[in-house]
Amino acid sequence: MGKGTSNQTFTNYHDNGKLSEVACAPGSGSLTDPWKQPGSNYPYTPGLLAMDDVNKLSHLLPLKNSASATPNAGSRPDELLGKFEYELFKLQQPHDTGLSEEKRQLALSVTRRFFDRCKANFLGFPGVVSLSYSHLADFLDVEVNNVGDPFTTGSSLTQAKFMERAVLDYFAAVWKAEWPHDVRTQKADVIDSSDKQLVTALENPSSYWGFVTTMGCTEGNIYGLWSGRHYLSGEMMLVDGHLAGEYGLGRPANEDHSDGLSNGQGKSGSYFVNGDQERATLEKLSGTVLRSPTKESKSPICFYSSESHYSIRKAVVLLKIKTFHKAATKLNFPPPKGFDSWPTEVPSNEDGSINVQSLAVLVEEFAKRGYPALICFNSGTTFKGAYDDVEKAADLLLPIFNRHNLLNRSFYYTDGKGEVRQVKRHGFWVHVDGALGATHMPFLKMAQMQGVLELEPDTTIPDFDFALRGKKTQHYDYSDIEVVNSIATSGHKWIGCPFPSGVYMTKTKYQMMPREKPSYILTLDTTLSGSRSGLASVFTWDYLARHSFNDLMEKAVHCHNLATALAGKLRVLNDLVERGELHPNLSPPSLWVSRSPLSLAVVFRRPNKAIMHSYILSEEEEFRDGESRKLSHVYTMGHVTLEQIERLIHDLSQDGAFDLDK
Ligand SMILES: *Cc1c(COP(=O)(O)O)cnc(C)c1O
Repeated sequence: MGKGTSNQTFTNYHDNGKLSEVACAPGSGSLTDPWKQPGSNYPYTPGLLAMDDVNKLSHLLPLKNSASATPNAGSRPDELLGKFEYELFKLQQPHDTGLSEEKRQLALSVTRRFFDRCKANFLGFPGVVSLSYSHLADFLDVEVNNVGDPFTTGSSLTQAKFMERAVLDYFAAVWKAEWPHDVRTQKADVIDSSDKQLVTALENPSSYWGFVTTMGCTEGNIYGLWSGRHYLSGEMMLVDGHLAGEYGLGRPANEDHSDGLSNGQGKSGSYFVNGDQERATLEKLSGTVLRSPTKESKSPICFYSSESHYSIRKAVVLLKIKTFHKAATKLNFPPPKGFDSWPTEVPSNEDGSINVQSLAVLVEEFAKRGYPALICFNSGTTFKGAYDDVEKAADLLLPIFNRHNLLNRSFYYTDGKGEVRQVKRHGFWVHVDGALGATHMPFLKMAQMQGVLELEPDTTIPDFDFALRGKKTQHYDYSDIEVVNSIATSGHKWIGCPFPSGVYMTKTKYQMMPREKPSYILTLDTTLSGSRSGLASVFTWDYLARHSFNDLMEKAVHCHNLATALAGKLRVLNDLVERGELHPNLSPPSLWVSRSPLSLAVVFRRPNKAIMHSYILSEEEEFRDGESRKLSHVYTMGHVTLEQIERLIHDLSQDGAFDLDK
């Protein structure tokens, strides 16, 4: 690759077979106006450059406005550093002839130094920054693309689906799903065939299906809610084609989700749910009287707690899924018992977990009117790291669904021959957002079962996995009912992957019918994106291959114990503050220390900017009794050490540590 320092020659090929050579003068030609200087509000990265650097670097980075290029020119330090940062990373300008090697190396070494500093002090987010994957460097010289379904190789062979499948099997085992995946749904000849003999029923529709995501847990959350909406709205699932022994039923009825409250009625050759159409025939066929066929009765209503991650709120907007608040407001439902008005999200307990009693009340308001429920639980909320009690919620919810005929909903469609067919579905879908917890908790639980984790008596580690079933009660046996439909987790949080990744998992019978099988890639288009990161599978596979279950249990216990230690040390500081012996000017005199049960996040009063930056802490604000509390937290992830915690405690004990103006 030429640096453009001398005249470069370009060879052109012509379709008459002739070649011609053209010389290009360095720096000639221009696509844009001359580059502009950023304004004073340009983004700036605290800690990337220091004032010292400004002097050292000034010969390389001639600022246009040299008056502000010296530290004593009167500009604010962050403004000056921001300008230097911009100059250092600025790429080639239209009239330049390439970035100098010296500048490129300098920019890279400044970046490396910055990341090294971050690694030494990274306490504020549920991510792992200290990683060791450099032995995989040669995987960076090839594009590894797992495009399409993980269980079909397809035509694009530079892929690592063989590793992806191993990773998925691993998670299926840890999340107690049935495995391996029943690959019959993927068979190209089955999907394509007009020869009905080739269409075979699935052997194990309860086996898991999933994929490794490219866009973290967010992608899994979006896919989980999309699948839930699809299932509850009565659209075609992949498995239904097998059950009916028939493909090519045409497009599903409910393509248009522009208003989730008024989905159209089914048409011939597609699905319809409890609809007017051919109702009499259906009642005769099924031997049951269909419930009042209001248009609204099939629109799924979404419930998630106020501590849910913003990716859930975004997914709901993206997918045009109606939240209970939106639907209740639009339909003018009176507030439920115990509420003055409809809450916008399901209330959370003080520890950050979902309030299951409130959830039950809110769900019932819709269940009694025939609406199916799309419920999102957290295994580890983002700020407090709280674990929802999915099991207890299920104990309250299943009888509600039973009371309102939402355990067994019948869906009907007419197949290609005009025959009416029936499909049974639940009237609920449970998605677990386990960005952090779904990878951490199973190993903490294993450690507890092995007796190597000491917990307060009566502490139970909540289950959220695919084995979760209802219970047998006095009135009804729910023990066959599967509670969890889908789980998503991040690969870059508890495990630690150098780039965003994640896992989405459901069961084969809850797979949506994909729109098509593009002939270009020869695999079903069952995932969210087109191209998918194959490296996410390579790196996750490598991590899991290098760490035994014992290693991961040890890590889970280490993280848990560090959180316990940190909370204890902060409470000691808090006692001093409350007694007026430390930080006497704080009002109120409290550090607001809290830790939800089993959480890796310890929450406390937000310290000053210098401490926030030096430990890379995140901010949150909470309103308690009408008063704002500015908070922060530390996540005791795998790379965190006791020494770091002690250093933080030392810093928090210094004068002005909680002075937000500093
Ligand atoms: C981090 C997080 C997410 C988003 O995960 P990404 O991997 O960053 O996309 C979703 N939910 C919770 C609870 C999280 O903490």
